[in-house]
Formats: sequence, structure tokens, C-alpha cells
Amino acid sequence: MNVLFVGAHPDDIEIWCGGTAALYAKQGHKVFFCIATNGNVGSASLPANEIAAIRKKEATNGAAVIGATLIWLGFDDEFLLDSRETRLAFIEAFRQAKPDVVICHWRSDYNPDHSISGMVVDECIHMAGIPNIKTETAPFLEIPHVYFMDTPAGVGFEPEIYVDITETFATKVKMVAQHVSQNGWMKNIFGYELEAFLEIPARFRGLQAGCEMAEAFRPSYRWGRMFKEHYLPGSLRGPQKMPD
Ligand SMILES: [Zn+2]
Repeated sequence: MNVLFVGAHPDDIEIWCGGTAALYAKQGHKVFFCIATNGNVGSASLPANEIAAIRKKEATNGAAVIGATLIWLGFDDEFLLDSRETRLAFIEAFRQAKPDVVICHWRSDYNPDHSISGMVVDECIHMAGIPNIKTETAPFLEIPHVYFMDTPAGVGFEPEIYVDITETFATKVKMVAQHVSQNGWMKNIFGYELEAFLEIPARFRGLQAGCEMAEAFRPSYRWGRMFKEHYLPGSLRGPQKMPD
């Protein structure tokens, strides 16, 4: 399968679903990381263009840990808007990745870039197949499975499907650790060391799911997307029937 993760900022995918991305990669699926914004406000000391360049390099390194392909959209951090330009950029990303599965942010997450990117994915995924909507790459007609990833500390997010990430948690930590510029910064904002920041929610979701460590998801239910199976790897709820 082709699996497309869409994150608002350069480290989001790794933080909230890096363990699941690592599982997909381990099972031989082709993984894409599409990052909507360039992270250009992610520093208290460096100017916007410098921190954006650093974060693109870090995102490349994070994706490289599992051999994921990076799709970098480059919108300004904290100012992702639901506009024609944004939708066309997302549609082009869908067409490049040709996904069987898309995983995006929850539509009412804590940060507007998260919520808007999740909303644009959920609203616009079917537009990838419409020929009169022109982008560089040809239309992609398949309708993928769409899942929302967890929110920070799980606030306002009631999971329906859990993925056991016990075996890939160390890989997840390694992926997040590539975002060197954000490690001290995150500690200042959230008050946690990197590994604890990842481990606490993983153990909490694991406690809910009946395994050591888990990541949590919800499917997007839309007409035309009411699939009987779901395509999350090694998951702990509901039927699973993934293509080879
Ligand atoms: Zn973010």
C-alpha cells in the first residue's frame, strides 16, 4: 500500500503517529510524509528563513529513519489557511502519493495549523480524482481510507482504533530526536523531556487498548468511505484486512 501521513509542522507526524508509520514501513508499505508548513516560527532566537531551512533538514532526517518520502508544502507556520492555494497544494500531494491510506490531524486539535490541515485533507481528498481540478500530477481516482491521529495528551479525542507500537516505540523516539532544534524548545513549552513526552501518552493509550504502548486513531466516516475493513497495522480494534 501507499500510506500518506499529513502533518501540519515538521515534527507532528513522528510525535503522534511515528510508531504506526514505522510499522507500515516495516511491513513493506510505501510511506509518505507530507508536511504543510515550514516551521518558520519554531525558534525563539533564529530568524524565520534560517529555522525553516533547519527544520526542512530535520524533517528529511526524521523521514529517512524509516525510508519515508518527504512532500514539503512550505506554507508559513501558524498561518495555514483553508484557501484555494492550500487545497490545490494538498490535492497535488494526494496525486503524488496515490494513497490507499491517509492519516491526518483531528479536525479540532489544539493548534489552527493542525485543525485546518486535518479539515482540508478530510474535505478535499476526493478532489484528487476530479480531472477539471488541474495540478501538476494527473488525477488519482481511488478513494483512500482516512484516519485522524491523536491530539496532544489526547485532549478532546475519543479513539476508536489503537495500534500497538510497543515494537516500534524506540524507532519513534529516534525519528522525533532528529528534530534537534525542537527538543529544548518543546521542553520549555511543555515541561517534559522528549522521551517522557512521547512515552506518557503511548503508555496511556496502551493502558486503554490492553498493550504496553499504543497510538490512537479515529476513522473519517463519509459517504463513499464507509469501508468494512480498516488498514491500520497490527491494530487492536475491529476487523483488519490489508492488501499485500
Ligand atoms: Zn504541530
